[in-house]
Amino acid sequence: EKHSSSEYIKAIHKKLEERNPGEAEFLQATWEVFESLQPVFEQHPEYVEQGILERISEPERLIAFRVTWEDDSGNVHINRGYRVQFNSTLGPFKGGLRFHPSLTASVVKFLGFEQIFKNALTGLPIGGGKGGADFDPKGKSDREIMRFCQSFMTELTRHIGPDIDVPAGDIGVGKREIGYMVGQYKRLRNASEAGVFTGKNPDNGGSLIRKEATGYGTVYFVEEMLKDRNLSFKGSKVIVSGSGNVSIYAMEKAAEFGATVVACSDSEGYIYDPDGINVETVRQLKEVERKRIYHYLESHPNAQYGTNRSDIWKIPCDIALPCATQNEIDRESALALVENRAKAVGEGANMPCTEEAVRVLVNNRVLFAPAKAANAGGVAVSAMEMSQNSMRYSWTAEEVDEKLLQVMKNIYKTCSDTASQYGAPGNLIIGANIAGFKKVADAMISHGLN
Ligand code: GLU
Repeated sequence: EKHSSSEYIKAIHKKLEERNPGEAEFLQATWEVFESLQPVFEQHPEYVEQGILERISEPERLIAFRVTWEDDSGNVHINRGYRVQFNSTLGPFKGGLRFHPSLTASVVKFLGFEQIFKNALTGLPIGGGKGGADFDPKGKSDREIMRFCQSFMTELTRHIGPDIDVPAGDIGVGKREIGYMVGQYKRLRNASEAGVFTGKNPDNGGSLIRKEATGYGTVYFVEEMLKDRNLSFKGSKVIVSGSGNVSIYAMEKAAEFGATVVACSDSEGYIYDPDGINVETVRQLKEVERKRIYHYLESHPNAQYGTNRSDIWKIPCDIALPCATQNEIDRESALALVENRAKAVGEGANMPCTEEAVRVLVNNRVLFAPAKAANAGGVAVSAMEMSQNSMRYSWTAEEVDEKLLQVMKNIYKTCSDTASQYGAPGNLIIGANIAGFKKVADAMISHGLN
């Protein structure tokens, strides 16, 4: 039985590899989930009969489109836009848009696939999707960003809606970009449909705490995980990679919980401040002035700057929170963390650890909080933004933060209980994958074959 379910899972993944040639990120993400499901398939023959694995790994719809825009000097540029509407079993497709030159169909599909299970874990009624463009916002003027967003939305508008598909931000997309996209959607639809986007400016239909939610949520989740081992952020040394929306608020909450955050980074390098990073300085630099992280040294001459980004993981720490991007911790970085006796790793970004890195960390008993559980706070508050938009009402920051904390505690409990139930106590990777998968798979079966 055991043997045959693992053979079955491998065979289905083999077919997936043949159908999606060369899509390394997508196949990495699917295999990571498939691999955890062996104990489930031993107990649930109906998942085999219903072809659930093949169905869940094929997007319901994959949209790719041309985005034409004009820069400030009048030159014409072409980018490729995407939206993957991966799974709508639990609710409207939900997931962010990423604007980054590295975006490909493989990356969008990996992100969309992860989003299905992450969204299921929140317990809120949202399906999984993702999108974006291979557009590089770096160095673009405000007008160029606006024209790009308008052109992108001219196509995307026909595919989305408050009950169909609800995008939000991700790397390169924040409330400025969302504002431009909502504006274009509104013009094309001739209707005010606040619930078509989340991550909006709170002055304009957005939820309070949405901006902070992913970073806060990651720290809430990791604190629960630490608490189970009588550990805590309090008094610990923390590294948080990145300096965007996830990183800034993970640093803020970790510091509030009594940790010293000693390092963070951007796409060009990292800063190390043994006295503890001044989060407000980083926030001002990145969120307001849109400058590089090395400018931090101008006001904090005690800090050091390094240009080899992976060196950040060689700094001794108790807790590492990778909050930048996929595959930022490889085997070597994981070995450095183990050597420096790190106690825990919490994934704030999506799939920031390679498969080999995860193996090194888990084998060396480093507590591990997987992305689809640990960073679900962002999309959870997005779902709360949808609720508030439907009610045409807003909750206070305290109300949203309290609900976020409860969601993260519930996700931790679900993952931890599921791991024990399926014979892998303490393994939150298995817990998250199985709990997320079962919720979606059972709902798919209830809807009949499609
Ligand atoms: N992009 C975020 C994520 O990776 C948030 C998505 C959303 O709020 O819809 O989960």
